[in-house]
Amino acid sequence: MSEHDGHPEWVDLMEVVLRGQPKFDVGPLPCQNRPDLFDPQDWGEPHEAVVRRHRAAVTLCKSCPGLDQCAELSKVEPNPHSMVWAGRSPVLDRGET
Ligand code: SF4
Repeated sequence: MSEHDGHPEWVDLMEVVLRGQPKFDVGPLPCQNRPDLFDPQDWGEPHEAVVRRHRAAVTLCKSCPGLDQCAELSKVEPNPHSMVWAGRSPVLDRGET
């Protein structure tokens, strides 16, 4: 996965999109502070570890001031790497817990 300034590129995109919202100015997004929690399963990473990370990431999303806008964007953009995005984790959604 490509990264920019230590963040996955989609996190940078998210920041641009959210800052472009009228009268909406967010501080650092939770996923910018802890991108490691949102990442897909790493090679050799135990499944239980992914589940723990993704649950923590989903909890961060629920407190994110940009959740609604992020959820709208996630409806039209693919999530090919099965990362946590807009409070959803494909791993958790599949019930692989
Ligand atoms: S809802 Fe989650 S993925 Fe979306 S900007 Fe906020 S922390 Fe990041």
